[in-house]
Amino acid sequence: MTAALPGAQPGAQPAQPDSATGSQPAPGRGAATPVVARTRDELREARARLDDGDVAVVMTMGALHQGHATLIRQARAAHRHVVVTIFLNPLQFGPKEDLSRYPRTFDADLEICTQAGVDLVFAPTPDVVYPEGDPGVRISAGPLGDVLEGQARPGHFDGMLTVVAKLMHLTRCSAAYFGQKDAQQLLLIRRMCRDLDFPVRVVAVPTVREPDGLAMSSRNTYLTPSDRETALCLSAALRAGAAAAAEGPSAVRRAARAVLVREPLALVDYLVLVHPDTLEDVPEWYRGEALLAVAGRVGTTRLIDNLPVLVGPGGGALETFAQP
Ligand code: AMP
Repeated sequence: MTAALPGAQPGAQPAQPDSATGSQPAPGRGAATPVVARTRDELREARARLDDGDVAVVMTMGALHQGHATLIRQARAAHRHVVVTIFLNPLQFGPKEDLSRYPRTFDADLEICTQAGVDLVFAPTPDVVYPEGDPGVRISAGPLGDVLEGQARPGHFDGMLTVVAKLMHLTRCSAAYFGQKDAQQLLLIRRMCRDLDFPVRVVAVPTVREPDGLAMSSRNTYLTPSDRETALCLSAALRAGAAAAAEGPSAVRRAARAVLVREPLALVDYLVLVHPDTLEDVPEWYRGEALLAVAGRVGTTRLIDNLPVLVGPGGGALETFAQP
């Protein structure tokens, strides 16, 4: 498949049927529509047509935006095949969370996947992923899953890791791309792969933002115009904190908090400067990489954002953390 050539650019593929995957070219465009698999059998069949060695997966809950497209493009540039999963995982939503109102935009999602050069989209329903109902055996996130987002959303990370593990097995991927936007999720997935010996390379992609700084998120569609204005204080606080990074941890926290207190309509859940591996608050003497993370409610919507920062001389915002 031309779309599967390493380094192929989105939209640059000739409009020809794909002999490897059976993809058909989208009418009037250069990109081939991905194969869509909804069942395990369809996935197995389509996956068997992809080369075994080099399949990258991008896992999503749908309502795709340019953040997701960036993950897909990075995967596309580095791997022979790209699989996107679109699955709203009930296991990671609490009873009072937004599962039922979460935006569902499959046709638009497929168009983004087509333009970004995806080979295969796996879009199952919960009964396909959990044929026996709720799984009795789950992945445990451990203590790192109980803090920050885990404190606000009990059980969320166990549910998330359980589906990530299943989707890694089902897609038989060799690499998986995740956004820095969900820093705690990314950390826990790295830990799961390392601690449980998953043969998958986890790749982090920096957070993609709107021009005014708001981190892109499927949940931004819930924001009213005035909520959206209010929400800007989250990214502004992170920038202010990062700008003080040379002066040490308390200066970072103080600068970020000063922005948030000016916006009473944002109900801040936490603002922390923590070690990127342990998620523990960094002490005042600490110098090095740290995660500046914020979460809060704006209107009816819970939003999260973060910036990796280098604390100490020459410090400031980082795109991502240096990885082993
Ligand atoms: P979601 O559909 O929200 O579960 O996100 C699917 C993947 O896209 C996750 O790895 C997210 O971290 C990533 N992602 C979501 N928003 C962004 C963003 N603004 N920038 C980079 N990655 C993102």
